[in-house]
Amino acid sequence: APHRDLAQFRADFPILRTRVNGQPLTYLDNAATTQKPDAVIDAEANFYRTANANVHRGVHALSQRATDAHETARHKVRSFINARADAEIIFVRGATDAINLVAQGFAEPCLTPGDEIIVSALEHHSNIVPWQMACRRSGAVLRVVPVDDSGEFDLDAYAALLNGRTRIVAVTHLSNALGTITPVRRIIDLAHARGVPVLLDGAQAISHLPVDVRALDCDFYAFSAHKLYGPTGIGVLYGKTEHLQAMTPCQGGGDMIRSVSFDATEYNELPYRLEAGTPHIAGVVGLGAALDYVSAIGIERIAAHERELLHYATQWLADIPGLRIVGTAAEKASILSFTLDGIHPHDIGTMLDDRGIAIRAGHHCAMPLMQRLGITGTARASFALYNTHDDVNRLVAAVRRVCETLGS
Ligand code: PMP
Repeated sequence: APHRDLAQFRADFPILRTRVNGQPLTYLDNAATTQKPDAVIDAEANFYRTANANVHRGVHALSQRATDAHETARHKVRSFINARADAEIIFVRGATDAINLVAQGFAEPCLTPGDEIIVSALEHHSNIVPWQMACRRSGAVLRVVPVDDSGEFDLDAYAALLNGRTRIVAVTHLSNALGTITPVRRIIDLAHARGVPVLLDGAQAISHLPVDVRALDCDFYAFSAHKLYGPTGIGVLYGKTEHLQAMTPCQGGGDMIRSVSFDATEYNELPYRLEAGTPHIAGVVGLGAALDYVSAIGIERIAAHERELLHYATQWLADIPGLRIVGTAAEKASILSFTLDGIHPHDIGTMLDDRGIAIRAGHHCAMPLMQRLGITGTARASFALYNTHDDVNRLVAAVRRVCETLGS
């Protein structure tokens, strides 16, 4: 079975050997952030030890070394998501930063009162609030694609929402709260039939699904390194060249210019035009190492392993009286949200923590989705390549114990 093969990679993640609350750590909060393998930790540290200098401006050897490391990582990102050119990869702080950049630099300058932006009811706050802000400033209107009770994206309702006023569609590729995989192929085709560009929030999908931006033909793709076994503070905005070219830089500063005078400043070419200031060089290097690590294992193999764990965990949890799985879409990945009758999700989280089990409890930065489903929150277990059947067994035993202790 694939999960047995992957267990060997656990040893690459030093934090998995720590104990919390006197118990071995069972880390099931991977949708919030994944743990980092030695390869990533070492790549960052080695950058500072052997190559640290500022990029793109020094003539000296070390600066060249740092620039090479930085741009090599950009090339790895390009390959990982199959973009056409390195210049289509913009380094940002994370998915949030990427979405804000598109909302402010791409959408907002073209928005007029009455224009429409489409998001879905599944979105993380970071794919809602930047669009609300753009709407508030421009007089545009946010339209929301509904989901059904299982957390399935409503394609018919979406098709009906698309119209001549739609300026952009921004939807998640994989819901962080329910695990729903959205029908991105159809979403993009329907939007493109009307000439509307599509941004995919890939914050979750990037570590669980193969992502090929050319095959998807999405216009923008946003993700964070830290959910992909890489460092915090660094992420990627992929954009088609023509869109990135059309964007207004939101930030001015060093590196993003070709020449500056008080009369006229000329902006630099892509990708630098949209990357003002000294970048998070070590973070970029760490992201490159994470991509090497994941690619060596293979995202398909990771996905198969996680799918198997998801099925296994779903079966065992669904057996517990009073437990309800929240999010039962046909296409799901890696995320298992649930509630227990009469027990607050935070109490589940706290009792599991006593046993060294880390899960998430709450609204998962998707309050509108929770409202739609008529709940205030869920307990959420989310899987990564290093999780095992043992992790699931401990989760199930601990949840049973919660029911015995707190159940009515
Ligand atoms: N979108 C989704 C679906 C997410 O899960 C997250 C992170 N929880 C984000 C966006 C935001 O990512 P970040 O906080 O790394 O910018």
